[in-house]
Amino acid sequence: MPRADRLAAVNEPLVSRMREFGTTVFAEMTALAVRTGSINLGQGFPDTDGPAAMLERAVEAIRGGSNQYPPGPGLPELRQAVAEHRKERYGLLYDPDGEVLVTVGATEAIAAAVLALCEAGDEVIVFEPYYDSYAAAIALAGAVRRPVALRPAEGRFTFDPAELRAAVGPRTRAILVNSPHNPTGTVFTPEELSAIAAVCQEHDLVAISDEVYEHLTYDGVEHLPIAALPGMRERTVMISSVGKSFSVTGWKTGWICAPAELVRAAQTVKQFLTFTAGAPWQLAAAYALRHELGWVDGLRDALATKRDRLMAGLSAAGFEVYRPAGTYFVQTDIRPLGFTDGLDLARRLPELAGVVAIPTQVFYDRKELGRPFVRFAFCKKDEIIDEAVSRLARLPR
Ligand code: PMP
Ligand code: GLN
Repeated sequence: MPRADRLAAVNEPLVSRMREFGTTVFAEMTALAVRTGSINLGQGFPDTDGPAAMLERAVEAIRGGSNQYPPGPGLPELRQAVAEHRKERYGLLYDPDGEVLVTVGATEAIAAAVLALCEAGDEVIVFEPYYDSYAAAIALAGAVRRPVALRPAEGRFTFDPAELRAAVGPRTRAILVNSPHNPTGTVFTPEELSAIAAVCQEHDLVAISDEVYEHLTYDGVEHLPIAALPGMRERTVMISSVGKSFSVTGWKTGWICAPAELVRAAQTVKQFLTFTAGAPWQLAAAYALRHELGWVDGLRDALATKRDRLMAGLSAAGFEVYRPAGTYFVQTDIRPLGFTDGLDLARRLPELAGVVAIPTQVFYDRKELGRPFVRFAFCKKDEIIDEAVSRLARLPR
């Protein structure tokens, strides 16, 4: 190898397809909060624990010797509990032996699905702003993302079905669907899901459906899995995880439910990413799905109140606020305060107000579409939210 190339390999060792990614915005903003002692309404993680009996189950599992490799597809207890939950909640039937795969969080499920289903050069449609790991998984696969914008209309973010149709081309393989949607808080209506389902069926596409906020919806809005629409079960990779529903984002335990061929494909990849997911968390997750859904209802009620608390404070501080029907994020427009660039504001917010938030533009391919938006998380104690909004009230206008 010529000397210059050898030096380049050391100085810029990262493969070109990952160079646009750098450090995730969540790590950057959490580090900024720690460094400046600011209130962190950036990265979405709760500041209270999940149900005590579920935590106890994890401790018992460790003390009881569940400490060696579980089977690659996941422990039967969890696969069974996931299948029962899908059936009871959504009327969807999945065989726990072959149609359920346990993963290291939804993140691994998404990566395994994309890597398993996309050839280099294939295209994947994503709704922008999109969760950051989608772009990285698509890039790792050598595939290409085709963004379809979610734009504000009548107080919520939604897409134009014509734009979705126009994004489909001969190389399109899949649509990455995320409802309830991070970072906008949109819960797709049955009509919106039907529009996506129609495109999937007309063009023989797979829906990779990230439903990690499935339990966190408000104002009587219910989450509808796209797999429940006619003709969609057979072409949907349904993904969820324990992190958001049970307030244990550090457990990184998720699952895929899909027809056996799609599960087999994802599992072929998954076995060489991590082989299997942590045993104690799987047993505790199975317990939670079977015994703690009542606790989740309580979480959802508490979050609805926190949402209203944060929204009221942000409006009073001068932001334009979009009311989320799901997730634990509020999307704001900063222009009424006289700011124009959310990334710039997010970087200055610790110094201006002692608060950290997430600039939404980092979740767009077309950054200009997201420039005026900033995301705030409300999965925090009431007193933290109150302190944050009283600090934000001091922002100049
Ligand atoms: N998808 C979305 C939309 C998310 O917000 C997150 C963040 N938690 C994930 C996937 C990742 O989930 P997990 O922690 O289970 O990997
Ligand atoms: N899902 C969380 C959020 O959107 C954070 C995930 C992460 O830190 N990677 O804030």
